[in-house]
Amino acid sequence: MEKNSVRFLKGVGEKKAEKLAALGIFTISDLLYHLPRGYLDYSEMTPIEEIRDQSTVLVKGTVSSDVRCLRRGNLDIFEFEVIDKEDSFGVPRMSVTLFNRNYLAEKITRGTHVVLYGKAEIFGNKISMRSPEIEFAEDTERGFRPIYPLTEGISLKNMQKTMSSALAYCFEKKDGKIISKTDIVKESLPQYVMDQYGLCALPEAFYKIHKPQTKEDIAAARRRLAFEEILIFRLGLSTMKQKMKKQRSKKMTVDFDFPKFASALPYKMTNAQKRTIKEAIEDMKRPYPMSRVIQGDVGSGKTVVAAALCFFAFQNGCQSSIMVPTEVLAAQHYSDLKPLLETLGMTVSCLTGSNTKKEKEQIKEDIRSGNTDLVIGTHALIEKDVKFKNLALAVTDEQHRFGVRQRETLSKKGEDGTVPHALVMSATPIPRSLALIIYGDMDISVIDEMPPGRQKVSTFLLPSSENSRMYSYISQIAKKGKQAYIVCPMVEEGESEEIKAVESFAAELQENYLKGIRLAFLHGRMKGKEKDSILKKFAYNEISVLVSTTVIEVGINVPNAVVMIIQNAERFGLSQLHQLRGRVGRGKEKSYCFLISDSKNEETRERMKAFCKTNDGFEISRKDLEIRGPGEIFGKRQHGLPEFKIADIASDTKLIREVQECVERIISDPLWFDKDQNKPLKERVQAFFTNADRKINGLQI
Ligand code: ADP
Ligand code: MG
Repeated sequence: MEKNSVRFLKGVGEKKAEKLAALGIFTISDLLYHLPRGYLDYSEMTPIEEIRDQSTVLVKGTVSSDVRCLRRGNLDIFEFEVIDKEDSFGVPRMSVTLFNRNYLAEKITRGTHVVLYGKAEIFGNKISMRSPEIEFAEDTERGFRPIYPLTEGISLKNMQKTMSSALAYCFEKKDGKIISKTDIVKESLPQYVMDQYGLCALPEAFYKIHKPQTKEDIAAARRRLAFEEILIFRLGLSTMKQKMKKQRSKKMTVDFDFPKFASALPYKMTNAQKRTIKEAIEDMKRPYPMSRVIQGDVGSGKTVVAAALCFFAFQNGCQSSIMVPTEVLAAQHYSDLKPLLETLGMTVSCLTGSNTKKEKEQIKEDIRSGNTDLVIGTHALIEKDVKFKNLALAVTDEQHRFGVRQRETLSKKGEDGTVPHALVMSATPIPRSLALIIYGDMDISVIDEMPPGRQKVSTFLLPSSENSRMYSYISQIAKKGKQAYIVCPMVEEGESEEIKAVESFAAELQENYLKGIRLAFLHGRMKGKEKDSILKKFAYNEISVLVSTTVIEVGINVPNAVVMIIQNAERFGLSQLHQLRGRVGRGKEKSYCFLISDSKNEETRERMKAFCKTNDGFEISRKDLEIRGPGEIFGKRQHGLPEFKIADIASDTKLIREVQECVERIISDPLWFDKDQNKPLKERVQAFFTNADRKINGLQI
């Protein structure tokens, strides 16, 4: 049996252990970390007469009938009635049905006091509840009852009991304090941290989160557990950063030739761009690998910064790579950067899943031999058989789509034991507090300035009844040689539905509103080559209107496109809308974005109206974070954000700031890792790495 297995607990046999395993609970400590998703407040019972259909309620009452037992096949059905007022004519009753719970039914007779928890249903004027959780009123204490995530075969009561056994197994009360009596739960935080931030000890936190008496208990326990969770994650990343400093990187001895690079550009770089380049060049001149993220709003010009650094690597006789999340983006970067960098003497290639086998062989051979100075590509770049001759710089665009693991894989590519410099370009600007968490292993540069001449994209919220006017406007601008995007109504994920929806939507537009206009559609299920060719045509203005799903959301750059129409705008997060809007307003021309929505929801409308008023990506993501939480900011796709079990990084911003301060304090002592008082913390941080293969401490990868 595994050490500290749940099997050691009273009432947990082989069968129960199997069921717990289905919840990812193997050890007693796994069980303690199985936290309530909410609480039943025993001071807030619902009177039977106020019960609404399909509501989940807690009811306290008296059994007012005999218990009837029916037998159907091998099913024992018990039925009885409950009232919560003095029994008299017309008092509202709730009928309760239990299945095969003979042991329970035996304890119930007319007059028994019960507390029931379950979903109530109302048919006509009959209120009923099937298979509720039952407690006998005599043994209910006041306070809060935890509600846990459950699985088939484990009832709430069951889970509560098992948790009680775990608490009794691990802890005891001594002099009014809860202390561990086993070594299952060891305090991980040094005393000085707990004192400074007013955090309760771990045993107390477990007790309070599973058996709270008051709301304050719950808050104190949550604070302590969330603090610990973020702290360990952050320290893990900091340690990663420190480890990086022990690695070697390629030597960069030749100075960056800024004038030469600048002369190849058709525009002047902004000060923010120059500053970011300078910061990164400083990093790259050091003997250990750079680990830097560039944050900048949509259209702030991150790509050229990457290009400058690739050129710097080239000047030093080294290769670079740029990894992007989609083939569309790879193709676009390729066609943008190839002409620029070739005039500077570099050879650029592009590797994606849609290359033929033969092409791939050739591209890989060129990477291996050093014929290629920069390779741009998708995930294909991190396949095992992609070997570089002397990779010095690995750029990742739109990082959140990848996750930490892939970042690491590519950074291991060096053949001579050196680790390439890592540069991440974040697609979605995020508030600093969140950036410090997510990019805790990196230094951060912020491009806080837009290239000159950019106009604010005027944004309007319109009902779908305005569609015909919108489309005729588009038809007009198309005739004047301008271009537009239409993001079509969202459909459920699913291959055939998605394709059908886009096709029929585009066909309808073509036949009616946009007759004679060159129109094409794009969706996520298309082959890379097909997408590529459509985007090329759009880029060369051979297509005027591009109808698309959100595949165009990331990074596409066609300055001649001046209108963006987003159907069903209410279904998108603000940051996603901002990304979409960022596809226009990229040239000198005045651009417009129309959000089409018939949503009646007040909150949703307010949110969209607020969006119309601001063009500031940082502000938008802050709002989005408040409203939808970090996972949602980036859409439903893989985002690589840490998913914390306890901490809520959207609303715990104050806590995050405290943790950040605490982390800085801890690591400002270069010996913190070796000090006795930090030993338990160090062990937890190390476990964070060992678990990395399973899930990087909850990081979705
Ligand atoms: P993002 O930061 O969203 O990745 P891009 O790198 O795609 O933005 O740049 C958006 C557009 O702005 C591109 O057409 C690029 O050529 C242009 N651009 C970048 N920097 C400047 C600048 N300093 N002045 C004018 N245009 C610029
Ligand atoms: Mg970009």
